[in-house]
Amino acid sequence: MKNILTAVFILMSMFVMAQTTVLINNVQIFNGKDEKTITGNVLIVNNLVSKISSAPIPTNKNGETKIIDGKGKFLMPGLIDAHMHMFLAASTQGQIENGDFGAATIRAGVEAGNTLMRGFTSVRDLGGPTFGMKQAIDAETIPGPRIWPSGPMISQTSGHGDFRNINQRPVLYGGALHHSEVIDAALIADGKDAVLVATRETLKRGASQIKLCAGGGVSSLFDPVDVSEYTEEEIHAAVEAAADWGTYVTVHAFTPRAVNKAIAAGVKCIEHGQLLDDATMKLMGEKGIWLSIQALDTAGRADFSAEQKQKKKDVANGADAVIKMAKKYKVKMAWGTDVFFNPPVNKFQNTYIAKMTNWFTPYEVLKMITYDNAQLLALSGERNPYKEGKLGVIEEGAYADMILVDGNPLKDINLMVEPENKFVLIVKNGVVYKNTIK
Ligand SMILES: [Zn+2]
Repeated sequence: MKNILTAVFILMSMFVMAQTTVLINNVQIFNGKDEKTITGNVLIVNNLVSKISSAPIPTNKNGETKIIDGKGKFLMPGLIDAHMHMFLAASTQGQIENGDFGAATIRAGVEAGNTLMRGFTSVRDLGGPTFGMKQAIDAETIPGPRIWPSGPMISQTSGHGDFRNINQRPVLYGGALHHSEVIDAALIADGKDAVLVATRETLKRGASQIKLCAGGGVSSLFDPVDVSEYTEEEIHAAVEAAADWGTYVTVHAFTPRAVNKAIAAGVKCIEHGQLLDDATMKLMGEKGIWLSIQALDTAGRADFSAEQKQKKKDVANGADAVIKMAKKYKVKMAWGTDVFFNPPVNKFQNTYIAKMTNWFTPYEVLKMITYDNAQLLALSGERNPYKEGKLGVIEEGAYADMILVDGNPLKDINLMVEPENKFVLIVKNGVVYKNTIK
């Protein structure tokens, strides 16, 4: 009997040991969706928020709870970037196409840690070989944000995701797969059947949503911005295959023609859309289609041609009118940065938050980069990789993803631009990755 009791006791203490609790006391809590903050304390048990209270939260007396004095600072949900390229943003195009894949992977891994240190605890990846990176981050092999991976962007021949040079033949005509396809950065598929294969293969690899290129691009060499890509039948094939997997298709598109076709084919989200017109935006509002928008810089990458620089300028300048229209028609908007093949710009990720105050109050911006973006992440439905708790909010039962800001960003949005100095605590999945509270 005594032996059994001892065994039970050992088992119980193992259970207690396995549980980690963190208590953050005395913080001003912005919950992600209400403008009014509350002063209180937050208890984290393992990876979830267990209790929020303005009264002291009692803890067990055995000293197992890590207690953090928040000193009245501003606690908010971890930031979400709805349009990133976690792998491809860490290298130049030349490094990806001509360089060593291992080196590119390591650069991307380092950048994943930097992204988390900028306060981003969740990102939606819109193209690139991120399946392995996601696994390594989830296993805590390297620090980084949660990733909703699209895997390779699926593109038609000559489309935004066709990275071949002018002299390379399509595979159908005896050409070889381009390196971007070999490494899962892009996948070229033409015709309904090939699009079905590409979509199903990408879902099999672990995509939480499918990214299709439905129109011309800024950085791509051969497709002018006005070009529409894929037939409605091809887009619809991807939509059906994604729906069978419980998730959705989002498309890269700027123009009314491309976006109207994509909506008719059943896509749920438009990436960019900076050249849209009033009628298309109205339709998006009526149909509840998401607009994943970026406030881009007008300057292009150093390696851009004059033509690419002009495309970038046109698109960046389009944002103003488009965001105003989207507000008018109450279109669901998500915010992202879309840095691509431009490593020096990664460290400025947070500056794009402040830019949004051209159109929104600081409260609306903070809500967009937390709660609103999390609603878009949830659109992955059955393929949402993180379904245990809510995201983009600080509430009981939500994932313990949060940052503590030294100052009140509801009053001064520029605090968001200085993560190194102003984000004094970064917690993801209940793990404290940074604590410099003074
Ligand atoms: Zn992109």
